[in-house]
Amino acid sequence: MTDQNSWQDDATRDLMSLGGRLALLERGEGSHVWDTDGNRYLDFLGGIAVNSLGHGHPAFVETVSRQAATLAHVSNYFATPQQLELAARLKHLAGTGERGRVFLANSGTEANETAIKLARLHDRDGLIVSLEGAFHGRSTGALALTPKPAYQDPFRPLIPGVKSIAPTIDALEQLFAGGERISALVVEPIQGEAGVLPLPDGYLVRARELTSAHGALLILDEIQTGMGRTGHWFAFQSPEVTGTDGAGILPDAVTVAKGIAAGFPLGALVTFGDASDLFYPGTHNSTFGGNPLASAVANAVIQEIEDQDLLDNVRTRGSELREGVAGLPLVAATRGAGLLIGIRLAAPVAAEVRAAAHERGLIVNAPSDDAIRIAPAYTIGDAEVAEFLELFAQALAAVAETHDVPSATQTQETSA
Ligand code: PLP
Repeated sequence: MTDQNSWQDDATRDLMSLGGRLALLERGEGSHVWDTDGNRYLDFLGGIAVNSLGHGHPAFVETVSRQAATLAHVSNYFATPQQLELAARLKHLAGTGERGRVFLANSGTEANETAIKLARLHDRDGLIVSLEGAFHGRSTGALALTPKPAYQDPFRPLIPGVKSIAPTIDALEQLFAGGERISALVVEPIQGEAGVLPLPDGYLVRARELTSAHGALLILDEIQTGMGRTGHWFAFQSPEVTGTDGAGILPDAVTVAKGIAAGFPLGALVTFGDASDLFYPGTHNSTFGGNPLASAVANAVIQEIEDQDLLDNVRTRGSELREGVAGLPLVAATRGAGLLIGIRLAAPVAAEVRAAAHERGLIVNAPSDDAIRIAPAYTIGDAEVAEFLELFAQALAAVAETHDVPSATQTQETSA
């Protein structure tokens, strides 16, 4: 092991060289974490939209302990009550009706790999189409749908039969007017890794119309936006995100992970209608996927969100935060929905703002040059909102002082 002063050397020597680590964290409680030097941080990144109940939540702790002591893992020759309960819950929350089915996996990427195989089973000769700016994961299939040269180029050739289009309604219409055979369109309702970028107004509705008309699957990647993050169980159910008056749209499949088990690894693919009949024995599986431990935690997380009416809190606190950051130095606009918020800065200084926040004990991240992302726990209250606004204002002021930046005019960029 390591002594406190040399942990960075140990990390550099022993961990795969994939990027620096900001602190050595050892404990969390609610919305706070502590490093081994005793520094306390307000965690407004939540493990990148994962810690939906914060840290050390009693429902999480109690369920992990109880289920670990009861039954943690069995092979997929067997079903467990926890797994069946979770599948039924996911079908219900997604609104699949009777004809939905669920595959339980261990991560978002694995859920998306399953979605890619679903698309191949639907039409092996059709293209799988993703959007520029998308992030769907790092395994070779999901990576092929993640059109970022720095991520893709070292690993070419990627899987064939995949292409990306601009995230505009024009590009979508051209795609389907072009006569190419399309198996599936894979879309994030809000592009989290790109800086919490909303789709153009009406995009999902048009995507549903065109995919249905051309026999292509509409697959939504709700790994970041799903399981309550936008103040609705799924972003496709959010009137703000879809632009519909509450009717929403139904995809053929949706993938979830991140917040579903509040920090316990779990991903899922949920299918609707005919897409539920595509897999058959032998075509897919996973050793750990849907084990009783992970499933029990997800059931407890969903139950807690329901019991405490946390979706309402997500919407309310999200509005408070967006209103609170309006007018702070450097803030040009906010975007996103619920507690997935992108704060666009008036200059490309997001990395400096992130660092200044960290120095003051606030964890946020900078997914692009000019955007800060926050994705705090659904459980945040007045105290956490106030602490965030104070620390974030200090960080912004410190960075603004060192730059000659235009004074910002605050706007809300589409989805609320
Ligand atoms: N899809 C989206 C939209 C994501 O945000 C992420 C992770 O950031 C992934 C897929 C990959 O999920 P995981 O890191 O759990 O494999």
